[in-house]
Amino acid sequence: MKSLYIHIPFCNRICTYCDFTKVLIKNQPVDDYIDALIMEMKTLEHKDFKTVYVGGGTPTALSEAQLERLLKFISENFTVSGEYTFEANPDEVTTGKLDLLKNYGVNRVSLGVQSFNDDILKVLNRSHDFDDIFRSIDHLEKIGLSNYSMDLMYNLPGETFNDIDTSLRYVEELKPKHISWYSLIIEPHTVFYNEIKKGRLKIDDDNKEAEKYLHVMDGLQAIGYPQYEISNFAEKEYESEHNKTYWRNDNYYGVGAGAHGYINNERYYNVKPVPHYIKSMNENHSAVKETIELSETEKIEEEMFLGLRMTEGVSKERFRGKFNVGLDEYYKDELSFLKDKKWITDDGRHIALTDSGRMVGNEVFIAFLKSS
Ligand code: SF4
Repeated sequence: MKSLYIHIPFCNRICTYCDFTKVLIKNQPVDDYIDALIMEMKTLEHKDFKTVYVGGGTPTALSEAQLERLLKFISENFTVSGEYTFEANPDEVTTGKLDLLKNYGVNRVSLGVQSFNDDILKVLNRSHDFDDIFRSIDHLEKIGLSNYSMDLMYNLPGETFNDIDTSLRYVEELKPKHISWYSLIIEPHTVFYNEIKKGRLKIDDDNKEAEKYLHVMDGLQAIGYPQYEISNFAEKEYESEHNKTYWRNDNYYGVGAGAHGYINNERYYNVKPVPHYIKSMNENHSAVKETIELSETEKIEEEMFLGLRMTEGVSKERFRGKFNVGLDEYYKDELSFLKDKKWITDDGRHIALTDSGRMVGNEVFIAFLKSS
């Protein structure tokens, strides 16, 4: 069974660090976009999914009527046997929208909290503030959608270790089932990128960032959140099944502007931005811009990069099942080199990163490159 990602590229406000495929929702052809999205979903070969993830942009930026159209189509045309997640921003989690999500079978919410510090939230140009976070979580709990992931960021402008400790205290108090805690990455074509180039904004250097990462990992472990991926933390039963589809390098569909998928060993990429996507769907009944067939070597490399992100690592059994060769045999010299460096562990069933391996992640990943 496969997974499905649905992209909603609209936001009520544009954050200063964001390089996702998104656009301000005001004056956008949102209804036409949903028509195109439905058209694309009708072309999918599979109708039964183990996970569905609706992300963005911000899906909760849609009106209730638009949300209902999307949810209704999914419920009438697909089955979702497992995790069904919607991304949401704290200021947009209204009772009406939550009722809709709940009534149409959504069973998990990914809440974009990012920081508990109002000054930092302003610098990020987030649309929510500190109070919205608590209000939205209260709504989620009351309606019985208590399976939510709290998305946080560190390495933010002006952030101190005290800010991280404050976030940890709120996490401990609120007890979300899942935490994603990513480092801020400054991407080109963002407001932050330009501000840094002009010398108007500073962020921490690599050493400080590494210290903050350790602080986050230790802090979450101390309050009972096991780490199961480089930036994700949860008890086993609440690990994100949808994201594990990506990290296990399994097949999935992606629909919407700029979305991508991985089906039958081919990666495909949809057109963007929104008007191009709508036009392409209306004229060609397809939005695929590019399809890349991966060589066996590239598939194996991806299996390693993605799998090593998880604490459990890369399964030797799955590796043999997929590639018809043993991992120990295929990467004999590389594994020996990495074990000598103490960057990986081998329990006989999985190859996984050690703590020091995690800190030098890229060097480990490079060791597994055989193509090019
Ligand atoms: S809400 Fe999310 S997708 Fe929208 S601008 Fe902010 S970070 Fe980007």
